[in-house]
Amino acid sequence: MSTKIPFPGFQALALMEKLVGMRTVSRDSNLDLIEWVASYLKEFGATTRIGYDAGRRKANLLATIGDPKQPGILLSGHSDVVPVDGQDWDTDPFTVFYADGKAFGRGTADMKGFIAVALSLAPAIVGAASPQTVHFALSYDEELGCLGTPNLIELISKSGIAISNCIVGEPTSMRPVVGHKGSAAYRCCVRGKEAHAALTPQGVNAIHLAAKLISRIDDIAHELQRAERHTHAYTVPYSTISANRIGGGIAGNVIPKDCEFSIDLRHTESTSPDAVLQMLEDYAAQLLAQARQVAPEAGISFEQLVEVPGFDMHADSPLVSRMVAMLDGAQPGHVDFGSEAGFFRRLGCPTVLCGPGSIEQAHKPNEFVTLRQLHACEVFLTDFILHSSH
Ligand SMILES: [Zn+2]
Repeated sequence: MSTKIPFPGFQALALMEKLVGMRTVSRDSNLDLIEWVASYLKEFGATTRIGYDAGRRKANLLATIGDPKQPGILLSGHSDVVPVDGQDWDTDPFTVFYADGKAFGRGTADMKGFIAVALSLAPAIVGAASPQTVHFALSYDEELGCLGTPNLIELISKSGIAISNCIVGEPTSMRPVVGHKGSAAYRCCVRGKEAHAALTPQGVNAIHLAAKLISRIDDIAHELQRAERHTHAYTVPYSTISANRIGGGIAGNVIPKDCEFSIDLRHTESTSPDAVLQMLEDYAAQLLAQARQVAPEAGISFEQLVEVPGFDMHADSPLVSRMVAMLDGAQPGHVDFGSEAGFFRRLGCPTVLCGPGSIEQAHKPNEFVTLRQLHACEVFLTDFILHSSH
């Protein structure tokens, strides 16, 4: 039932070249891209909504082609890319370069190739014999831990649109991916009391307090490994927690007043990040009770920096079964990286990750997507959107 499309679609390639040329590294503004895509889709009659961040430097885009009252399929992609600093590229990362059946450039796999293919279908969606409603959602700051995604979800909720199914086009080599772990990152700040090291008992050593907390984190990591039912969907089949950065102290002979460290949690469905944080807060309260006998100003705080919900679709859900059939029997699987899919699942819509290119090439120098993968994505999306009711 595949539609005949030139190999590969000229329009998709032209759009990918345009998108890659817009340098949307997460630390920079993505407004050029968002506004350009909005005006492109408006040419096809799309209703567009732009949700800016607080500083109006970045924005999300929600665009709808077709009857907004009908439930529509949502095609989701993040507009930002990771930096190229210090990477050894053979060609200009922001100019698509073709060789050996591959298109090289930052974002070709992660994930402007998918966005380009999705956008290239706009004329076909408009011209279809039985028109379908299709939503396009482009986000910012995904690569920083989905920081822009809550704003996008708010934009979607306020718009009143209905979503039948959601496809997040992360590079999965065009295999349906039905789950990944959730993740959370926290900053822990420990405040003790400064003292001359010759008068150690007069101070409260913030580094020592932090060390006890980190030791507790290590214990929790072992508890999670022991207690959870292991799911072999993932390379590491249980939840993990670790402290991966630390700073504190000003000199070798001063009891340190401050220490700060980071915590990274990767959790399966059976572990709630709030419950893990509560375990740490309970232990911190015990430590503080002692510390405050010496220094009433002592304190321990946890600040959440990142929250990326996990997701797990049943492999026998109608969306997954349909995708498996359309993707020549490619079996559904799980991935180790996070994505925006969990946010869409919270909206209640069936969600699957599926996009061209491999995560192996993402974030690396000489990132590429094969033309064959782009073509497979075109064929799949065309079938999915135009040749079936949803
Ligand atoms: Zn990505």
